[in-house]
Amino acid sequence: MLNRPKTQEQVCRECFFTAFEEEVHQTIVDNKLFKHGERLAVAASGGKDSTVLAHIMSTLNARYNYGLDLFLLSIDEGITGYRDDSLETVKRNEQQYGIPLKVVSYKELYGWTMDEIVSQIGTKNNCTFCGVFRRQALDRGAVLMGANKIATGHNADDVAETVLLNILRGDVPRLGRCANIITGEDSSLPRVKPFKYAYEKEIVLYAYYKKLDYFSTECIYAPFAARGFAREFIKDLEAARPLAIIDVIRSAEDFVFAAASDEKLPQPRTCERCGYISSQPVCKACVLLEGLNRGMPRLGVSRTRGRRGEKAGLHPDVGRGGGGGSSGPAEVASESAEAASTMPAERQGGGVAQAPAGGEGGAAPTTAGCADDGLPRFEAWASGAAGAGGQTAAEKVARAAVRQRGPVEIVYETT
Ligand code: SF4
Repeated sequence: MLNRPKTQEQVCRECFFTAFEEEVHQTIVDNKLFKHGERLAVAASGGKDSTVLAHIMSTLNARYNYGLDLFLLSIDEGITGYRDDSLETVKRNEQQYGIPLKVVSYKELYGWTMDEIVSQIGTKNNCTFCGVFRRQALDRGAVLMGANKIATGHNADDVAETVLLNILRGDVPRLGRCANIITGEDSSLPRVKPFKYAYEKEIVLYAYYKKLDYFSTECIYAPFAARGFAREFIKDLEAARPLAIIDVIRSAEDFVFAAASDEKLPQPRTCERCGYISSQPVCKACVLLEGLNRGMPRLGVSRTRGRRGEKAGLHPDVGRGGGGGSSGPAEVASESAEAASTMPAERQGGGVAQAPAGGEGGAAPTTAGCADDGLPRFEAWASGAAGAGGQTAAEKVARAAVRQRGPVEIVYETT
């Protein structure tokens, strides 16, 4: 018998397998994630989430006759001692599940490996490059292989963390869509999250008891990612009340934002350089690449705005804070880390922290808090455009609260 982390039920292994698989199947059916005959790219890193996803998709596709044409899609970031080893796992998965594998590398797409990028940028903003490049690389690989959709192994813990990070950043547009189970629904290549309601602990249990072949070493550049702090916070909530993870996701699904926040959503377009989807004339990947290729890698990740970017002789879109539409969670983490590194010491241990008013760009009152019972109590309001200065202040305060790891009240006031 084992204790299901999500429900605390005592079940035997076989019942756990059945319950886990049926819940994923129900998620797929309820949300109409796939259509019969679609070609599906299963993003595969060799880690537990994507390995279980490949196994489950293969199992459910056969059991329920989804009619999907599956293939594994891996990205080789060029991280020696990490990705080269994990790719060996994916190659074994290809044989074990009988699903063909396609690998695309940063080197072939961008001319740089992550090892080379880290040698230029250091280990502070590396995940910004990696997250932006990976997102686009997945799209490119999927298009190359004629895929209709990409399935990723994002689990409930990941989604809850992203909700939390977007609240802490006061990023209302992203908050409004980060809990969506399908993203890019109107595009030619939507992404789906079949594990949106699957707990990380249950994925680990499933992989362990099924004896699946996965790679469990962390990226050698990972310790600098700020996402770890949000993850710890979510884990603390889960320890207090296991259903807290689902509550965070459900809360995000129920958020209703003022019409003004909708106006900030970037309109999809294509990058004038590489032709891939972007919210700006030049996508974030091309902006970052320009900095790298010109020997000024930090310019692509700095918070330069307008005149600074132009002064440096960069493309007019280089330095637009917020970047292109391809920026992802890794960028969020990286920017939060930057904010934390500049956080005054007296803020770090505070119980109730207040950020000063006066964010650049106008009012965006955002409150995120946890009640004394340790359960999540998140609320967010949007009125007008959020300014980068305000977000940075909110991030600093939020990071202090997250580090405290107890009941917190975060108040960001604007006048
Ligand atoms: Fe890339 Fe950062 Fe993830 Fe490593 S931890 S694979 S550098 S995003």
